[in-house]
This record gives sequence, C-alpha cells and structure tokens, in this order.
Amino acid sequence: MIPTQDLVALRHRLHSRPELSGREAETARRMAAFIEPLGPDLMVSGLGGHGLAAVFDGPAPGPTVMLRAELDAVPVAESGAHDHRSRVPGVGHQCGHDGHMAILAGLAGRLARRRPARGRAVLLFQPSEETGAGAAAVLEDPRFAPLVPDWAFALHNLPGHAPGSVILRPGPFFCASRGLRIRFTGRDSHAAHPEQGRNPAAALARTVQALLQLPESAPMRAGFSLVTIVHMALGKQAFGVSPGRGQLWATLRAETDDLMDGLADAAVQAAAAIAVQERLTHHVDWDDVFAATVNDAEACQWIRRAARQLGAETVSIDRPFRVSEDFGRFAQASRAAIFGLGAGVDHPALHSAGYDFPDPLIESGTGLFTNLVTAICGRTG
Ligand SMILES: [Zn+2]
Ligand SMILES: [Zn+2]
Repeated sequence: MIPTQDLVALRHRLHSRPELSGREAETARRMAAFIEPLGPDLMVSGLGGHGLAAVFDGPAPGPTVMLRAELDAVPVAESGAHDHRSRVPGVGHQCGHDGHMAILAGLAGRLARRRPARGRAVLLFQPSEETGAGAAAVLEDPRFAPLVPDWAFALHNLPGHAPGSVILRPGPFFCASRGLRIRFTGRDSHAAHPEQGRNPAAALARTVQALLQLPESAPMRAGFSLVTIVHMALGKQAFGVSPGRGQLWATLRAETDDLMDGLADAAVQAAAAIAVQERLTHHVDWDDVFAATVNDAEACQWIRRAARQLGAETVSIDRPFRVSEDFGRFAQASRAAIFGLGAGVDHPALHSAGYDFPDPLIESGTGLFTNLVTAICGRTG
C-alpha cells in the first residue's frame, strides 16, 4: 500500500506541471515511473496518443475490469497561490484529473500487494478527455484490443455535493454534446448597395432563432436537449462595407445519442434551408463531439455496493448532468458506469480558476475502486 502522503505528493507534482489534451507526454511518463516499480504484469504506453495502461493479473481466469483516469488538464489559468500551483501559464488541472490519477495510483499500490483472485484489473490513464477524442482513440488503437474490459468504471469529482458522497444514476449520466460551426458565404458590397452583394446577416439571425427552437420541437420532447449559441461573427467593424461572410457556433446537448442524432440532423437541415432561401453557400462542421454516457444498471449496483462497504453516502439523481464526458465511448464496448464523487458543497466549480482537487478524496476514490475490483474479481491473500 502506498502511504497517503505519497499519493498527495504525486497529485501535487502532477498539478504543478499540467499538460493540455494530446500533449500529455510528461504526465504519462510520470505515471509510468510511479507505477512501474509496483510490478504490474503488463504496461502499455502510447495508447491512442499518450494513453497508458497498467494491468494486474489474477492467478485464475475471469472477468477484466477497467478503471479509468484522465491525463489532461484544461486551458484555464489557476488563481490559487498554494505551493503546488500550476507552473504552466494558462493551463491548470482545473478539472481534477490530477486527483483521479492519484486515485488510480493508490489502487495500483493495493493491487500490487493483493492481486485480483481471478481475471484482471486494467488501470487506464486516458489521454484527451477534454476534447472528446481520447476514449475513441484508445478504443481504435489495436494494442487496446486485447485489453477491452468486460466491466469499465470511472469516477469524476463533483463540486456541489458532500465530500466523499457517491452520486449515481443508471441510464444517462452525462449528456452527449457536439460543437456545431456553420459558415455562410455570400458576397461583399458597398454598404450603400447591399442589394449588389449577399449579406449573411439575416441568415445568421434566422439560424439563431431556428436552432434555439429545436429543443421545443415534437421529436426532441422525448428527453432533455439544449442548444446554446456560443459564438457569432459577421464582417468587420467598418460602416462602409456590407459583409459577405458570417459564421455561427453552437453547442448541442442531449441526454441520449439518438436524441443527439435527431437534434444534429435538424440543425443541419435548418441551416441548409436558410442558406438556399438567402442565396448563400454554406458549410457545416463539427468539433468536440462527445457521446452520451449511459450507465449500465448492473454496473451501478456494483458501485452502490462498493460505496456501502466504504460507508459512503450514495446520492441518486433523477436527471443526467448537462455536461459531457468522454467515458461514454467505453460504454459502447463494455458494461460501464461512471459515478460522481462529491468534492464539497461549496467547493469551487470544475474548470474555474479557483478550483483545486480536494486531497482527502484520494483515499475515498482509491477505496471505492478497490472495492469494485474485489467485488468483481475477488482478491488474493
Ligand atoms: Zn473537464
Ligand atoms: Zn474532467
């Protein structure tokens, strides 16, 4: 077992050197260096980018259970003045992935001492969670194929909930989301003669209205969906020019992938129809695409049991969180569930400048993950 202060020190080292999605080389090296001496049966690095997996085998055949943490930090400047504050300008572990990694390191320490009795535990440090690209990249990496688990679990710390409480929901837990970019192209002209050009202002205004009304449409009323306009641009700050180009960005959210497909199709059709009516060409593309994270009901039972054994309070929520999580991809390959780990009712919000992962959660998270492995695979000794 690794002393708690060593896990806290690891978390603080990770925190002071945060790396953005897709650039987590040093973080992955640091985690490999920490876990290697514990003697895992297999380590695979470079998974789907900088991903790292450590495997602890049991002596008998059985299920594979995967526990996932994330390697990446976010492009948010930290405001805290503590000793372990970020030394990288404009980048911070403001989502608490440093804490999630320390929890997996704690689990590695316990599994090194008492391995699974049957099957195996795969500890995955996943890259690029924040961009929604990392889980898919890991799943597409042929070297991950032999590691695809029967059961996959993850946790995310959640400010706004009592410290150490376990927030759980079978079915949709985090919404699907997609970033939509629509570009309209017409033609510049003198502002005195807009009729000689094609100005996309009206198309932008109409598209905003159309997108905002989509969640109210009949097919979308089957569940939660949301459109947020996040950016618009039209022309330059010049009174003499009627611009010929404009663009609009929106974030689409929905509680299931089916609803998201319907919402995305409707958005694309609306933009296409408006472009035709306004005699503009248009181009649509997508970014930051996250699948919905839909929890397996039996996997949730395992989590409930693990929480009970630890004496942690379980909080059932009746609707999914609006935010998205890349972990949803693993639910397409395995029976999977993610749960929230309360970070404190008044703790600063995720991605905010004042956020810092609460160190006492390292022990709760390690305990919960250990109980999950023990419940599914048993433990030796
Ligand atoms: Zn985040
Ligand atoms: Zn996160």
